[in-house]
Amino acid sequence: MIAAVYYGPEDLRVEQRPTPEAGAGEMVLRVDYASICATDLRILRGAHRKYSPGTVRVPGHEVVGTIAELGSGVSGGFHAGQRVFVAPNVGCGRCRPCQRGQNNLCASYDALGITLDGAFAEFVRVPAAFLEQGNVMRFDEALDGAAVALAEPFACVLRGQQGLRIGSEDVVLILGAGPIGVMHVLAARAAGAKKILVSEQSPERLRTAAAAGADRVVNFRQESLPDTVAGETDGRGADVIVVAAGVHQAMEEAPALAAIGGRINLFAGLPSSDPEIRLDANLIHYKELIVTGTTGCSTGDCRRSMELIRAGKVDLGPLVSGRYPLDRAMEAFAAVRTGNALKVVLHPSGGKGES
Ligand SMILES: [Zn+2]
Ligand SMILES: [Zn+2]
Repeated sequence: MIAAVYYGPEDLRVEQRPTPEAGAGEMVLRVDYASICATDLRILRGAHRKYSPGTVRVPGHEVVGTIAELGSGVSGGFHAGQRVFVAPNVGCGRCRPCQRGQNNLCASYDALGITLDGAFAEFVRVPAAFLEQGNVMRFDEALDGAAVALAEPFACVLRGQQGLRIGSEDVVLILGAGPIGVMHVLAARAAGAKKILVSEQSPERLRTAAAAGADRVVNFRQESLPDTVAGETDGRGADVIVVAAGVHQAMEEAPALAAIGGRINLFAGLPSSDPEIRLDANLIHYKELIVTGTTGCSTGDCRRSMELIRAGKVDLGPLVSGRYPLDRAMEAFAAVRTGNALKVVLHPSGGKGES
């Protein structure tokens, strides 16, 4: 089979690899779509901690495929030809986070495309633990597989919003309108937010956020964000704020933009070389703010994500901005790096659509 294989920083080679076979309890998928995310960019830069120097591995963790082969003893009603989404992380199953269903926080997790060969390939092997832990989820033929591959990043977004308890009275402010920020707009809308504001500097991204359902978009280079938030909230501030940009200033200004009793999620991370911010503790104290952080997604989050997609409550299709065959993987990565693309997907088995 053909696969895009990581050999080292900026060294991704599209080459022949042995086609995986399904052992007992496993399955092999023909990959229909695998989307590229910021984690993959970090891997390609050589900056991912699970890709230590000398690692040769196939990335790709946002995956939709068709069951090509089933190993012996697979239960759950699976058969060849079914289309499935795979939640990419499995935990050890024994530690405290795992026992609480938070396998994204397991210290010794495995993940497709991170610790195991992933989906930037014609075929991917899904180990038995994934089937045992319910990571493999079927979906309807009628859905666009490229959009379903985004169920994983959308699950991360749902996890980020879980602690924010968004309700029909809430004005939600999202800082940053990259693909994740736009998914936060969709999730907040699905949660029934009263009003959604988005702050961003790229006019193109602001247009996308508006098209996704933001009620008011703000180019913070051209107009005052604090004034706009005050104007849209009768001076109260935003009830919920999601920081979806890995920018110090965005995190630091959130408490001042929040209403009394506001909830804030620091969804984005910061570079490990410079992770510190200055927060006004008195604002958190006197406004009784709740400041949360989340990382990745659990299998349960993926299940909730798939439920919303299956029920038609959220459509991730408009987020797919490019579709590339595997032999154009570097071109696809370059498109993601420009920052103008939303979600770029590879279609290793000739999935429908062109870039
Ligand atoms: Zn991802
Ligand atoms: Zn664990």
